[in-house]
Amino acid sequence: MNTTEISPHQRISTLREQLDRHNYQYHVLDEPEISDAEYDILFRELQQLEQNHPELVQSDSPTQRVGAAPLEGFGSIQHEIPMLSLDNAFSDEELGDFNRRVSEGLKAAGAIEYACEPKLDGIAVSLLYEDGRLIRGATRGDGYTGEDITQNIRTIPSIPLKLRGTGWPARLEVRGEIYMPKAGFEALNQRQQAKDDKLFANPRNAAAGSLRQLDSKVTAERQLEMCAYSAGIVEGGSLPEAHGAILKQLNQWGFRINPEMDVVSGVEACVDYYNKLEQKREQLPYEIDGIVFKVNNLAQQQQLGFVARAPRWAIARKFPAQEATTELLDVEFQVGRTGVLTPVARLKPVFVGGVTVSNTTLHNMDEIERLDLRIGDTVVVHRAGDVIPKVARALADKRPEDAREIVLPSSCPDCGSDIEQEEGEAAARCSGGLYCQAQRKEAIKHFASRKAMDIEGLGDKLVEQLVDQEQIKTAADLFSLTEAQLVRMERMGPKSAQNLLKALETSKKTSLNRFIFALGIREVGEVTALNLANYFGSLDELRVVTEEALIEVADVGPIVAAHIARFFKQPHNLEVIDSLIAAGIHWEKPVKQDASEQPLAGQSWVLTGTLQSMGRNDGKKLLQQLGAKVAGSVSAKTTALVAGEKAGSKLKKATELGIQVLDESAFIELLTEHGLQP
Ligand SMILES: [Zn+2]
Repeated sequence: MNTTEISPHQRISTLREQLDRHNYQYHVLDEPEISDAEYDILFRELQQLEQNHPELVQSDSPTQRVGAAPLEGFGSIQHEIPMLSLDNAFSDEELGDFNRRVSEGLKAAGAIEYACEPKLDGIAVSLLYEDGRLIRGATRGDGYTGEDITQNIRTIPSIPLKLRGTGWPARLEVRGEIYMPKAGFEALNQRQQAKDDKLFANPRNAAAGSLRQLDSKVTAERQLEMCAYSAGIVEGGSLPEAHGAILKQLNQWGFRINPEMDVVSGVEACVDYYNKLEQKREQLPYEIDGIVFKVNNLAQQQQLGFVARAPRWAIARKFPAQEATTELLDVEFQVGRTGVLTPVARLKPVFVGGVTVSNTTLHNMDEIERLDLRIGDTVVVHRAGDVIPKVARALADKRPEDAREIVLPSSCPDCGSDIEQEEGEAAARCSGGLYCQAQRKEAIKHFASRKAMDIEGLGDKLVEQLVDQEQIKTAADLFSLTEAQLVRMERMGPKSAQNLLKALETSKKTSLNRFIFALGIREVGEVTALNLANYFGSLDELRVVTEEALIEVADVGPIVAAHIARFFKQPHNLEVIDSLIAAGIHWEKPVKQDASEQPLAGQSWVLTGTLQSMGRNDGKKLLQQLGAKVAGSVSAKTTALVAGEKAGSKLKKATELGIQVLDESAFIELLTEHGLQP
């Protein structure tokens, strides 16, 4: 484009239009489209042109106005008494300094009385009442000029439209904080999510967004509250002489005040109050970011006066920041006691929420993906109260070029076994369950449990002691324990040690299905173990089985088949199994059966009522051994019903449907016929 063809008048007009739009995007909508630097370049070009052509300067030019106009439709309001900000204190020392300045300013020897209350994280507003009626509501704005949000203010139920009681000044300005309680914030975000609308980052943003709605109906739908914290204009009447008393008076006239508000004497009591509220912070139904301390006596407030834009008689003691940025140095994977791999972020130590954080859990790979994390990223760490610190987000624009992707390891960092992760499942696990150091305790507890190897006297506590004191590493080591080793354990005398050794010896004679169950293969319960034992007939065959062959087994789907095959592929698991066999564990070879050859194959049975000779679970297992599927309810598909004593609705239904019913003796007859015993 040849610039000489464009007149200065045209260029100025274009620039003004652009700058106005960017100004609007930035200051009004909070959605800037260009960087500050780009904005400045345009602004300076316009300034230059206007200097060269003074005849073209207009009062509505972006160069001629300061700040941005309020949203179209909101008028602006000049605060008659400026709404000043408070100084901050970030430590007890700084609070002590404040107290000393107050004492010196008042030339007071004794303890100063302070009104204390939580500092709500919301939007400061000013409400003007004339003759007891709300006539105007405004935002704090820059402290001198705010926005007229009267219509929106009127929709907030905790703001009185007319003051209650009597005795209020003819003109009264009440100041306070409008905020969104945590519950309202969560509900709002849920509604936003349901509508696929943008979520609010925090209750403060949600409150601000809700207050600055041109349509006050929208504001009315949002759960906003207001808490009064001071008075401004007081004309044609008077207020009490102390801050705490003023708040109580406002409360009587219809304003919510903070229920935690208190008046204390001396700075030590202020520190106590701060500590108490910091403890309570997470439980409060609204967000607070500190405590405001004000000299309670109004005459003393006047004596102290103001410095610059803040009063000398008040201070906000801020809670430690709950967010800080730091660098993600590395991600390590930890194996939990059930084999689940957890990624842990190693962070450059950062002070946040009152503690130094140098590592924190990232939960799982899904979370890493959700956060789009890379090693080397600058991350925001969040820590609130006693809650575990978390990585809240990564700052994409600060990502270094050499940032590394975070990859799930293919083998366990503890034992080297393969890592397995099901599709659609967040957790990744180590498949070396029988050997893995991290999973040792759980594996051995399971191995010894009643339905597995049933080792009497080997309780969870004892397993933990034995592992902690490095007496055993795997289940196989149990069988080489000596009395001398055992008596060193807590509450383990020679007698119980001998009993345990005897129990270990007894447990060696077992069944293949119990042994398979005892191995603790993922998702292989008693029934699956039994099916596997019956189908393959020997451990040697199972050890080399393929996933394809496993799927043929009743109750085994592709996922369970993959777990089983992977388990037997881990060299360490096989080592432990070999040691167990070497220790003398043995069983009678089950009669190998093809599922289709089983007598009740393809049938669906139901058990009901009380059986005298066996529990219902035992009956169920016997039926499964014969190849039947055992269902919980009677339907048209049911082959037969075993009805014990006190059989009720199931028996009735089976009779109605004309389904074969066996009583207990008929059932036992059937079992005996197929070589099984109750
Ligand atoms: Zn492992």
